[in-house]
Amino acid sequence: MADKPPYLSPSSAAAFVSCPRRWRFKYVDRLPDPSGRAALVGTFAHRVLELLCQDEPRGRTVDAAKDLARTAWEEFAASDDYRNLELDADEARAFRWQAWLAIAGLWDIEDPATVDVVSTEQKVQVELGSVPFVGIIDRVDRMGQDLVVSDYKSGTLPGYRWRHDKIQQVMLYAAALQSETGKRPSRARLLYLGQRILDIRVTQARIDNALAMLTEAWVEIDQACGSDQFEPRPSVLCGWCPFVEQCPEGRAELVARVEAGRLPAHAPSAALVA
Ligand code: SF4
Repeated sequence: MADKPPYLSPSSAAAFVSCPRRWRFKYVDRLPDPSGRAALVGTFAHRVLELLCQDEPRGRTVDAAKDLARTAWEEFAASDDYRNLELDADEARAFRWQAWLAIAGLWDIEDPATVDVVSTEQKVQVELGSVPFVGIIDRVDRMGQDLVVSDYKSGTLPGYRWRHDKIQQVMLYAAALQSETGKRPSRARLLYLGQRILDIRVTQARIDNALAMLTEAWVEIDQACGSDQFEPRPSVLCGWCPFVEQCPEGRAELVARVEAGRLPAHAPSAALVA
């Protein structure tokens, strides 16, 4: 029998739906899950944008973001996560440039000086249905009388097929905010930095759909922990799974995909079976 976690977050629920075995490695066995370089670029960009949006609107300029990035960099560069990347000088320069492009990409999609920011990095901890839920909302904005949930994304805007998960996650934030404030946010926005905003109307039907996923994941996690059975769900995502070396089914999936030419060359795990 495995220990069931005390709550679910949007990312842990999505991780279980994607692959219960991967979820077990991360949330039960707590195997090291090193943040990859791309994820850390996003972490740093999030931090700078958080600081920027805590300032008053007219102070949210590109120059202010540069100053904040310089200040925040000292602490970030000293973190274990960043140091563990072991970047050489050229790679470190490329990392900083990539992070800056993500930060500056905010101005490609909106002018932050015109945004009525209510809060940044807001923790929400509520019961959603019967599921204990905890999440951190990147930004809550006000538009007129309405609240808007905004979520920064530093990765590439996914194709239609892969957007559903992201939309469900942001709907869970909207549901949590509704539960805390008694008012349903009118919109949820995925801010793909430097690309575009996915602006989604928050409806009760969309929230209910996300809550159904959350409840189902919670019930299945309960069963999986009780029986200690966490099925692998091999897919193209095995190419991005940090636990593939501990997972025979995932490794077999990678080998099959490489042989069939169906694994993107930039998948981090591709090198393992090349
Ligand atoms: S390698 Fe694939 S099947 Fe195995 S745990 Fe990771 S995602 Fe799941």
